[in-house]
Amino acid sequence: MTMAGRLQAIHARMEAAARLAGRDPRAITLLAVSKGWPAAAVAEALAAGQHRFGESYVQEAVGKIRALAGRGIEWHFIGPLQSNKTRPVAEHFAWVHSVDRLHVAERLSRARSGDAEPLQVCVQVNVSGEASKSGVAPDEAPALAQAVAALPGLRLRGLMTIPEPSEDEVLQQRRFATLRALFDRLNAAGLALDTLSMGMSDDLEAAIHEGATVVRVGTAIFGTRPARAGAEAPQPGGT
Ligand SMILES: *Cc1c(COP(=O)(O)O)cnc(C)c1O
Repeated sequence: MTMAGRLQAIHARMEAAARLAGRDPRAITLLAVSKGWPAAAVAEALAAGQHRFGESYVQEAVGKIRALAGRGIEWHFIGPLQSNKTRPVAEHFAWVHSVDRLHVAERLSRARSGDAEPLQVCVQVNVSGEASKSGVAPDEAPALAQAVAALPGLRLRGLMTIPEPSEDEVLQQRRFATLRALFDRLNAAGLALDTLSMGMSDDLEAAIHEGATVVRVGTAIFGTRPARAGAEAPQPGGT
């Protein structure tokens, strides 16, 4: 299948899932996860109409961002974020989905220059309770979200999660429902959140069922990622 065909197939899946859930398909955005793929692959997806891309490794991403500057791409950082990489992330990305520590949020806020738009951020929540996963624990998320919302260089937009991989759709929905409940609770407490970043190639239907507004899809668009000689942190979700 061509790039355009694969993107069309994802949009068809998103639309079918939205209709099944009684939701407006236009309320759900596709983020194409291009980590592991060269700038040429991003350019191909761009030519097929995809403008939002997600990256997980700072160095790899900055190379692509430079190579594709001026092409109207909105770049989202979605990977584990170390505090010594906050500056390039704050300089090159429009969004960060993976804020899970106040220390890192504060550094991002300071590194975002005064005349730039605030960095759009999501707090990443670990809804599965796996010790190895990134993300703040659900019961610590409200305090972190309130603190992040107060930082001048950031605009808190919502929550993100990566549940443990599972083929059990009931379990998938339960994990996503946990994030949705937290999102509703924070909005009831006065935060104006509009973004639920959840769902990937294998579980986007379950995520849309539970209210996802952004799905992050890599493999189903670009194919199986090439093996990576790890210079930076291992990526969540394997391969
Ligand atoms: C790699 C990655 C994705 C995409 O996963 P696929 O299974 O390839 O669709 C989504 N979100 C995050 C945070 C990722 O690291």
